[in-house]
Amino acid sequence: MTTDRRIYSYSAVLMGSPILLKLFEHNESLAARVFRLIKAHENILTVNRPHSDIMAINHAAGRQPVVVSQPIFEIIKRAKAVSLLEGSCFNFTIGPLVKRWKIGFSGNTVPDSDELQALLALTSPDDVQLDESSRCVFLAKAGMEIDLGAIAKGYIADIVRDFLQQEHIENALINLGGNVHTIGAGDDNGAREEGGWAIGLKKPFADAAALIGVINVANKSVVTSGIYERYFELDGRCYHHILDPKTGYPLDNELLSVTVICDDSIDGDIYTTLLYGMGVEKSLAYLQQCADIEAIFVTRDQQVICSSQRQFSFALTDTAYRLAN
Ligand code: FAD
Ligand code: MG
Repeated sequence: MTTDRRIYSYSAVLMGSPILLKLFEHNESLAARVFRLIKAHENILTVNRPHSDIMAINHAAGRQPVVVSQPIFEIIKRAKAVSLLEGSCFNFTIGPLVKRWKIGFSGNTVPDSDELQALLALTSPDDVQLDESSRCVFLAKAGMEIDLGAIAKGYIADIVRDFLQQEHIENALINLGGNVHTIGAGDDNGAREEGGWAIGLKKPFADAAALIGVINVANKSVVTSGIYERYFELDGRCYHHILDPKTGYPLDNELLSVTVICDDSIDGDIYTTLLYGMGVEKSLAYLQQCADIEAIFVTRDQQVICSSQRQFSFALTDTAYRLAN
């Protein structure tokens, strides 16, 4: 039982993102262990430095298979399966395009279409050969690059959740910069009888603190992908970091952001990208078959659309936006 309702917040910058841990107890050593755990997984999964387990695979593209650990093999297998779903806009071999665009990093420019076509030829998920028995990963063409940017934060958020649970933490929130995981009934007793964590839905292209509304949720992951965190503008056009694997350009549709509420953050991370590519209408139809996955869509014409609200509640706070049903 928690008697002290005071929240203790611990922050760090890891994976190029602000990381926030909230606990109901003052426990700096636990926070330090959480940040070390995240750092250890960043070191394995990053493609933003020359050396990591994923970069070893990328460096060996077209030359030789690389043996990886079982968990890394599993995340790559999952990323490949999602990339091969019919019509999927999730593509974990998008690396050459991400590296060329450099969106969110310095030196970004708009590639010409010939250059994009040449790079697109290096982004076929079928060209990633996986050997289950030896845990080998082989990128068949030189120049191919795996990029787990659309799934790795979710994977790591689940690891942090599992770690905190092993440490018998009954109430906590971890935010990996858009990937939020909640444990327990949280800090907000107002919105729902059973309590919950209050998580802000960010207002696109506004101050960091500006919100459209508040999501109230307990024991769930809340993942948001949007076009307003990492982008650059040129000649009046906005180029954001979620790329269309068919064209090589940033995905262009009616959406500003997609938030997915579900049990595991790896699913949330995958689904934000998948649903982003589907757009609102297809996503709503698709989600009717997924009892455990719910989403909140924010559109360019300032609508907020919830697929359903079984596992969370949402309160609109910005009247410039309209809650559609
Ligand atoms: P999501 O929408 O979930 O995914 C978008 C990201 O996925 C893109 O940034 C790109 O990396 C990739 N992507 C783009 N299009 C597609 C597609 N069609 N299919 C699949 N994937 C796609 N940022 C820094 O600035 N500096 C760092 O040092 C740094 N290190 C990182 C280390 C790790 C281990 C991870 C996981 C991330 C790191 N990042 C870093 C952030 C990273 O570059 C991405 O911006 C971030 O992962 C995007 O997360 P998201 O949830 O906002 O976006
Ligand atoms: Mg994602």
